[in-house]
Order: sequence, then C-alpha cells, then structure tokens
Amino acid sequence: MNLQLAEVEKHQALGVKPSILTLRFDHLQQWLKEQGEPSFRASQIYQWLYEKRVTSFEEMSNLSKDLRGKLANDFTLDTLKLITSQTSSDGTIKFLFELQDGYSIETVVMRHNYGNSVCVTTQVGCRLGCTFCASTLGGLKRNLQAGEIVAQVLEAQRHMDQQDERVSSVVVMGIGEPFDNFDPLMDFLKIINHDKGLNIGARHITVSTSGVVPKIYQFADEKLQINFAVSLHAPDTETRSRLMPVNRAYPLDQLMESLDYYIEQTGRRVTFEYGLFGSVNDTSEHAKQLAKLIKNMKCHVNLIPVNEVLERDYVRTPKEQIDEFEKTLKDEGINVTVRREQGHDIDAACGQLRAKERQEETRG
Ligand code: SAH
Repeated sequence: MNLQLAEVEKHQALGVKPSILTLRFDHLQQWLKEQGEPSFRASQIYQWLYEKRVTSFEEMSNLSKDLRGKLANDFTLDTLKLITSQTSSDGTIKFLFELQDGYSIETVVMRHNYGNSVCVTTQVGCRLGCTFCASTLGGLKRNLQAGEIVAQVLEAQRHMDQQDERVSSVVVMGIGEPFDNFDPLMDFLKIINHDKGLNIGARHITVSTSGVVPKIYQFADEKLQINFAVSLHAPDTETRSRLMPVNRAYPLDQLMESLDYYIEQTGRRVTFEYGLFGSVNDTSEHAKQLAKLIKNMKCHVNLIPVNEVLERDYVRTPKEQIDEFEKTLKDEGINVTVRREQGHDIDAACGQLRAKERQEETRG
C-alpha cells in the first residue's frame, strides 16, 4: 500500500493539508522515493524539522528549490497556532493551541528537578465520559493526526529553546484517550523517539490509558520500552464502572488480565493512577482491597489527589486520609507515591483551560 499517498488523500478529503510532522522517517523516505529523490534527503529534512526547528520549507537551504516546492505543495509546517498560554508560579506552562480547522487543544510543560516534561493531547475532546474529568465534557470532536501531537512537543521545545533548555520527557496524559487514536499514537511515539527526530528516549515517554483492553494487547505486542500507566481509580468493578463508564465495556478482571499479558510481553512494570475521590474510593478498606488486587504484580501506584473540576462535584480527600491510604498500601508491600501537584493556579488539570475558554466563548 502506498502509505504516504493514503495519508495525503485522507487529509485532502478533510480539506486540510497534511502536516509534514505526521510523517515517520520511513514514510518520508517513501515520499522522497516517489518524487525521484535520494533517500538521504530524509535525514536532511528531519534535521531541519527537529534539530534546527525551522518554521518554513524555504529555510531548508540544502534542498533544491524544486524539492522545497514539492514539500510546500504536499505538506504544511504551521500545524498549531498559539491562542494563549499561562505560566504558573511553579514554572508550569500551559498552552492553548488552535488547529487548522479551528478546534483548540491544550499542552502543558512541567518543570521538574530532573528536567522538563511535556504533557500532550491526543484527541479533540474525549468520548469516554469519566465522571470526574473535564476533558470529556463536550464529547469527542475528532482524533488528532500524528503530526498534530508531534507539533505540541516541537512547540514546547521551541519555547524551551529561548532558555536553552530541552524537553527531556513526554507524557501522553493530556486531553483524549490515546488508545482510542491508536495508529497515530504509535506514529507519534516513533517520530519523537527517532534518533534523527526529537530523540526522546523511550524510557522518558509515558502513555496513559483508561483501560481500552484490546489495545492494551496490541500495545504489549509492540514491545516498546516506554512507560505505561493505567487509570485504575477503583479496586472493585462496581466503583470503577461508576467513575469510568469504559469499565462497563472492559471490566476490571479483563483489564487486569490484559495487564498481566503486557508485563509478560514487555518485562516492564505498570503504573496505576489512582485518583482519590472523597468518600468514593478513599478509605483504608479501599486501600486494602487495592493491595489485594495488585499484590505480586510488577507495578507502582501513583495516588492523585482529585482536582476539583467546576462542572464535577467530587471533593478532595483530606491530607491525613491521603497519608493513611498511602501508608496502608505501603504496609501491604505496594510501591506507592503521591503525585506532586503542579500548576494549581492555572487550570492545569486535564481539559480545564480548554473547558474554561469554551465556556467564555459561549458566554460571549
Ligand atoms: N485518557 C487517558 C489519558 C488521560 S491521563 C487516561 O484516562 O488515562 C490523565 C489522568 O488524570 C487520568 O488518570 C485521569 O483519570 C486523571 N484525571 C482526570 N480528571 C481528573 C480529576 N478531576 N482529578 C484527578 N485526576 C483526574
């Protein structure tokens, strides 16, 4: 199959020129071949895109005028337009970008003592309907193309360039369910990981899923060395279904089975994200049940104090109870940490900035 042409046609059908950032290195080589160009041009183009980070094809001065024209004819380089950004007192930056068709997405840059990490969005909205999450409020509008995900990291890197800093890690934990947009996600991972691309090491990339079981098997078979997180949020299937409707399609026992397969295939551990929602899943009893569920599993638990979302009525678990929950897990021999919060003053929880902007749009 002619992958490259399929990609171009798909975008043309949508009335949008494909982003050059959608092309994996091998796809770019294929496109060049179709143009009668030598394949070493792919390295040159990747270097312009990801090392020199140019903003136009014109600047690719070691390519012929003819090739630059062909690139500009088939692809675009201005994938995202910055609408607004907010910087938190702790250095967290949140960007709101506009896509070519007018939809908006969020990207967050977090500063840690071990480097800068970028949190990317994979879909415009989300169709999973988790009852605590702001990202799903307006439903799913559309999937992002791989290049629209890559562009978020590239834009964040351009911003960091001003301070001579580097994006050192990427977390796929922004708006959307990554496994609901699987193939573009895989391309995205390969592009940012490529040594001629942004060269972000597999172990510095984390993907989080709400638990789309068939895709967990597919992901396991890819045998990537990237970090894998699962939003668990409950130790029993009833509570989980109440919080996350996806659990009705893929119940907890099926999810756990797929994770055993993942661990077996990759030899890697799983990180469980467990949001503490006041009086819903946060008692010592829940902690014990959770320990029982994941005992002997190669895993780690990340406790997330709930972000109170305007449109959602969950309340935060008191600090002492969070400590108690953590201690109970530790006593049961479970590896656990409490997520350090960042960007509290800038709507940095998933989908909050976008939700707020959209509200303001409708109010105006
Ligand atoms: N759809 C994927 C990727 C999103 S990751 C997934 O579900 O894993 C974002 C993480 O933040 C998920 O664990 C999600 O469940 C969690 N989250 C969303 N809204 C939250 C809120 N209000 N408080 C705490 N955690 C929340």
